[in-house]
Amino acid sequence: MTSKRTLIRGGQVYDHEGDVHKPALADILIEDDKIHSVGANLAPEGAHEVIDASGRLVVPGLINAHYHSHDVLCRGLFEELPLEMWLLYTLPMGADRSKDEVRARTLVGALESLRCGITTVQDMLGLSPLTDEQTDIVIAAYREAGIRVVFSPMVWDVPPIAMVRHKDSLPPAVQEMLGNKPRSIRDQLDYLEHQFKRHPAGGTLHWAIAPFAPQRCTPKMLQGCGELADKYDLAVYTHVYETRGQALIARELFADHQGSLISYMDDVGLLGPRLNIVHSVWISRQEIDRMAAADAGIVLNQLSNFKLKSGIAPVFDMRQAGVRLGLGCDNCSGSDVQSVFQAMKMFCLTAAVSEPEPGPGLAHEVLRHATIGNARTAGLAGRLGAIRPGYKADLILIDLNDVAYLPYNSAARQLVYTEAGRGVESVMVDGRMVVKDRVVKSIDEDALRREVVGLMRHFIADYDAVVKSRKAALPHMLDAHRRAWEPDIGMHRFIGRAR
Ligand SMILES: [Zn+2]
Repeated sequence: MTSKRTLIRGGQVYDHEGDVHKPALADILIEDDKIHSVGANLAPEGAHEVIDASGRLVVPGLINAHYHSHDVLCRGLFEELPLEMWLLYTLPMGADRSKDEVRARTLVGALESLRCGITTVQDMLGLSPLTDEQTDIVIAAYREAGIRVVFSPMVWDVPPIAMVRHKDSLPPAVQEMLGNKPRSIRDQLDYLEHQFKRHPAGGTLHWAIAPFAPQRCTPKMLQGCGELADKYDLAVYTHVYETRGQALIARELFADHQGSLISYMDDVGLLGPRLNIVHSVWISRQEIDRMAAADAGIVLNQLSNFKLKSGIAPVFDMRQAGVRLGLGCDNCSGSDVQSVFQAMKMFCLTAAVSEPEPGPGLAHEVLRHATIGNARTAGLAGRLGAIRPGYKADLILIDLNDVAYLPYNSAARQLVYTEAGRGVESVMVDGRMVVKDRVVKSIDEDALRREVVGLMRHFIADYDAVVKSRKAALPHMLDAHRRAWEPDIGMHRFIGRAR
């Protein structure tokens, strides 16, 4: 079989180790799905396609290390809702949806991601029901879009009601609403293993294991997840300490584990290099140090943490502790945007207000987190995140004629602080040009738009019914939310108040 060779000529090629402000001009020879060589004046002989990248900045494809495709159609429906109250709506609106809707929502998320230069999404999907058919729809949609996915359907075996403080004071109807029963641990783990065999990792498909959150999983479930991760050599992602209420749950319900969810995961054998905890807004310094010592990672989602009133993650301590970091964009209805550019800027801005002293530049650091760091979270270090021989050919061409680069003084700084996504002109995933001249070639955008408009009639009617049914629970959730802010837990994650 002959291989396909593509030459990308004359672009400024962003190298994490090189001049990050004025990257050197270089050619990139791509053979099939991988970067074959990078250098000056590579010979075009034998190339099946030559792409002129003059006036372009060639950047490693951005990776979104935390995303959920289940609520894409909820985009723009919410604001000013704390996480626990927002979950009342967004979780049911992602469950038990039609095949057409599951396909469409997956494609819309992929479309937005590609247009914004994201070449890999880690989809921590709340797939309900957990069936072969639903799984096939999602994987087929990602293949069709041509985006790389680290697919991780979520598993859990503790119902949400178990984590509500003062649950006994809730009316029975509300208790029932939050008490949905999971399938057995064995069933869920068997489902995962079955999918790994049905759709072996390869090409643009990768797998990871995603226990919903440690407090939503029994030790047996977490141990099962750990064993599966070892057996298939996979990364693990789980939500940890997103809200103040979750820090309180740790102290109250996990006293046997030093009141710490990090200790709990350590005690069941999950704390280690495979593990990534998502959010970590209400994590203590001591716990951050434990994470760093275990080579476990933290995936920040500051856009959604701000929007869902969770607070500000302690980025100063995380950087000082040297814990490995990644970045995510989170739900379409929790941050409302799939933009790693926004996530990178947010990281730099929060780091800036956590340390008044001047410091070394952050832009090139956060570009590493969003590429190499995020690849590491998925166990794909050395394969994704840089434009180097042997790496997967996932890259983006940024148009330096965009006004964000007028004048053009620093690639790293302008990618992070001034790029709004407009400059993304072409996107290559796995050696295939999926976006060309700002058009996603793999998706018929007009047809998808028409399809979504049709689907939304049903969707909004169902959403209105969910809003109505949740009305009874709202005052109780608000009360629980307020109570979670009462005890002093020795940390502060909000800013902007005069006192
Ligand atoms: Zn999440």
